[in-house]
Amino acid sequence: MVTACPECESPVDAPAAAAGALRLSELLECPGCRSELEVIALTPVTLALAPDPEEDWGE
Ligand SMILES: [Zn+2]
Repeated sequence: MVTACPECESPVDAPAAAAGALRLSELLECPGCRSELEVIALTPVTLALAPDPEEDWGE
């Protein structure tokens, strides 16, 4: 199972999805831009940028 990074559109491999083991909120790392990606939907697998707790977003 390959889906696209929402940040750089690189293909992100999610082998757990094929095994039915992927869960919502699971974190993957984009091989293209090294972004942390969160699984926000499973059918189809959809990723969103995960908030980085080490970053100050100026809230
Ligand atoms: Zn990326």
